[in-house]
Amino acid sequence: MEGKAIIFSAPSGAGKTTIVHSLLDRIPSLRFSISATTRLKRPTEIDGRDYYFLSIEDFKSKKESGELLEWEEVYTDTFYGTLRSEVERIWADGNHVIFDVDVKGGKKLKEILGDKAISVFVKVKGEDVLRERLQMRNTESEEVLNERVNKAAEEMREEVHFDKVVLNENLDVAIAEAENIVKSFISN
Ligand code: 5GP
Repeated sequence: MEGKAIIFSAPSGAGKTTIVHSLLDRIPSLRFSISATTRLKRPTEIDGRDYYFLSIEDFKSKKESGELLEWEEVYTDTFYGTLRSEVERIWADGNHVIFDVDVKGGKKLKEILGDKAISVFVKVKGEDVLRERLQMRNTESEEVLNERVNKAAEEMREEVHFDKVVLNENLDVAIAEAENIVKSFISN
């Protein structure tokens, strides 16, 4: 079996991470690409499961040695990047890789991986919904929250660059739709 890549991108707060986790539970041949980040770890997160939490110096050295397939300064002074080693390991084990990345990173990964990849954009109906969801999560300061909402509003315009769009109005419906998209892509 040839390994494929599933790219999930969305404005922050659109529910992409929840959808990606449900897909990992439902589709046994999928493996999550654990990104590197310089963001602080949230209390519920585990280093090496959710992210590899790195210092800025360590992140820079990975970037300079070509260990990152793509990277972005997603928020001011906060870097995120996809490790080549994740993709190689997952494919070598005979699995498909799934990415949870920002919109720019999603476009970049699709360019790099071409037909081996499908890019899926998760969207919600309006900016208000995003703000509400981000506020409910309550993990960020007001300043960070505002930056996230502004960035999310900008990212909403990028859906045309993706292979598929999933509207997340009702989570169960969105998950079922995402599952169909991924299953049909990996079975071809
Ligand atoms: P969070 O801080 O909420 O975990 O993630 C913030 C944003 O960074 C999300 O949109 C997430 O998908 C994105 N992100 C996570 N890992 C990567 C990565 O490796 N590359 C890029 N470009 N974005 C990432």
